[in-house]
Amino acid sequence: MPEFPEPPALDGHGPARIISMVNQKGGVGKTTSVINLGAALAELGRRVLLVDFDPQGALSAGLGVPSNELDVTVYNLLMDRSHDVRDVIQETDTDNLDVLPANIDLSAAEVQLVNEVAREMALARVLRPITDEYDVILIDCQPSLGLLTVNALAASHGVIIPLVAEYFPLRGVALLKETIEKVQDRINPRLDIDGILITMFDPRTLHAREVSQRVIEAFPDLVLHTTINRTVKFPDASVAAEPITSFASSTKGAESYRQLARELIARGAAA
Ligand code: ADP
Ligand code: MG
Repeated sequence: MPEFPEPPALDGHGPARIISMVNQKGGVGKTTSVINLGAALAELGRRVLLVDFDPQGALSAGLGVPSNELDVTVYNLLMDRSHDVRDVIQETDTDNLDVLPANIDLSAAEVQLVNEVAREMALARVLRPITDEYDVILIDCQPSLGLLTVNALAASHGVIIPLVAEYFPLRGVALLKETIEKVQDRINPRLDIDGILITMFDPRTLHAREVSQRVIEAFPDLVLHTTINRTVKFPDASVAAEPITSFASSTKGAESYRQLARELIARGAAA
């Protein structure tokens, strides 16, 4: 695996590069990657905002934010201009790492936004006032290609697609690329695919190695060098509501997300 250099410290902050973590399949490591990539970037002194954009609220929960007890979440910001996004953002226990929480209320937004003017631009509008205060904003999408995910893509500069090398996901990725191309065409021409991230990889099984090889052959320019191996430390860290970089700081799992942070910075996909 190539080594990516430790990036220089930043001498100022913002404007943020906004990256969506998208795959219409659940259980592929989207939320885990948002939390741990975010924490690894924060360790490098980047100011990072994580946006929970899944009504399940797993990102919020994974950072210790009891979002079901909150009256005002990203949902209210989408639907009603009178709220200030700064009042809804919460600091986490990790330095430089903030979260914009979501809960089940967000599940109504998909239907309610349909009748709004510029319904695809609601999240972009919510994030605009704070973009200059962060270096990276990561959006944790729900497992669908519906209007919420289109809102995330419309607000983003980049997309990361996490994949599990268990079966050959060619059709799913093709469908996702089609959605991304439509968004590029119609609403957000600056949107880039930053890369495909292979997660939950088990290097001991021939099958995983074969599938991963086929993904690399199918998308040679897109697959990131960093691969995230399967380890129980990730579910353990999420039960502890902590990023792996603090829960199990010296493990390979923590190191792999640190490497991903360095790789994205080296590629110009993060500050
Ligand atoms: P998604 O957001 O795509 O639905 P999650 O990040 O919630 O996926 O991951 C699904 C489950 O897999 C969670 O229980 C999570 O703790 C676990 N998980 C994520 N990444 C890994 C990994 N590298 N190794 C082992 N388990 C993982
Ligand atoms: Mg998730």
